[in-house]
Amino acid sequence: MPASHVTNGHMGDTSKCVLVTGGAGYIGSHTTVELVNAGYSPVVVDNLCNSSFECIRRVEEITGQKIPFYKVDLLDKPALEEVFQKHCFEYVVHFAGLKAVGESCQVPLRYFRNNLECTMTLLEVMQSHGVHNIVFSSSATVYGDPQYLPLDELHPAGDCTNPYGRTKYFIEEILSDMVKADKNLNAIVLRYFNPVGAHKSGKMGEDPHGPPNNLMPFVAQVAVGRRAELSVFGNDYNTPDGTGVRDYIHVIDLSLGHVAALKKLDDKCGYKVYNLGTGKGQSVLEMVEAFKKATGVTIPYKICDRRAGDIASMYADPTLARDELKWTAKRDLQEMCEDLWRWQSMNPEGFGGSDSEQKSSDTESGKESILGKHENNNVATPETATAQV
Ligand code: NAD
Ligand code: UDP
Repeated sequence: MPASHVTNGHMGDTSKCVLVTGGAGYIGSHTTVELVNAGYSPVVVDNLCNSSFECIRRVEEITGQKIPFYKVDLLDKPALEEVFQKHCFEYVVHFAGLKAVGESCQVPLRYFRNNLECTMTLLEVMQSHGVHNIVFSSSATVYGDPQYLPLDELHPAGDCTNPYGRTKYFIEEILSDMVKADKNLNAIVLRYFNPVGAHKSGKMGEDPHGPPNNLMPFVAQVAVGRRAELSVFGNDYNTPDGTGVRDYIHVIDLSLGHVAALKKLDDKCGYKVYNLGTGKGQSVLEMVEAFKKATGVTIPYKICDRRAGDIASMYADPTLARDELKWTAKRDLQEMCEDLWRWQSMNPEGFGGSDSEQKSSDTESGKESILGKHENNNVATPETATAQV
């Protein structure tokens, strides 16, 4: 390692250094904690378009470690190059991306530009710095409307119902082609089912700005009094109680799936795809009931029309991840709901938003970040990260 390189900001640290893109976001922040717990040295890059620096501060509080943080847009190649010059990465875990399904239908180009170009820029910079290992955040949405259940990795992918899903599918294809072209490159695609829950400490969790699109953050906001009632999107699906069925997975189990994937990369595995789910499907009304059982809080709800583009039922076959990554989801619904509620009740307004950027759906700031404007002072040194943000 060149003498000028640091791993997690401390000279002489020999633990393996991991670049976490989008590490200030919901799944990235929880994974950063688990990477520290597993002995890795994570370095976070995020443009904060959908997150806040307060989250990184909480990661530091939980782990007792300084986390080097760079407020960098991945579209900004020179700024990303600077980060790669400062650290000697062995792995990249690539969470950064826009993820709102509905928004992606309204502004598809923005999703294609951000998600695809981020990834291509990242891959180019990895290539020029000899970094050969990447884990990518994909989604069960790449399966489209299931032809059979449970969904295994052999189920056809690509017939996505929205542009967001297509960005995930296209990135999978790019990674697969890159691995074919470069024998040194290893890429693991993790197809997440429905992450919920929060860190046990109650200090960190999902913090959607504006009305939550996803079920459980909405339930939690109703419980804390921020929203009046839950709208249940349809009760006439072909499911046991007529409401949509999904495979909810605790965000800590999901995070541990990434740690398992890093170990698999050490085997020089080439291109691999794994589902990360529990293998169990739960309906909307079962989730409302589970939340009540775990927290004692009754969620008022009304039955509404179906949400456009929704799928009746999807859940994973997680066997491949069990067999090859030696990973299984261990946390049950009770724990997911308890941890979600601890986070929401301790932080009714989430991270507070005091230092957060405008969210991606706020057009002006979002546009600027997507243009990838290079500002030299964008790159904070690890020591001054807090001050820079
Ligand atoms: P999130 O929005 O909380 O985190 C994504 C992070 O990426 C944010 O902090 C955002 O600021 C950052 N980001 C976006 N564009 C960027 C750019 N151009 N440069 C730098 N940073 C950028 O989302 P999450 O729920 O933590 O999801 C993480 C990843 O997992 C995403 O790629 C998402 O598509 C994928 N995923 C999420 C779910 C889910 O239900 N949460 C399900 C399947 C897949
Ligand atoms: N859902 C709901 N009300 C909400 C949000 C979601 O009834 O406010 C339902 C949705 O129709 C689906 C399930 O909850 O059946 C999970 O939705 P979510 O958006 O969390 O996940 P996804 O559909 O993307 O898998």
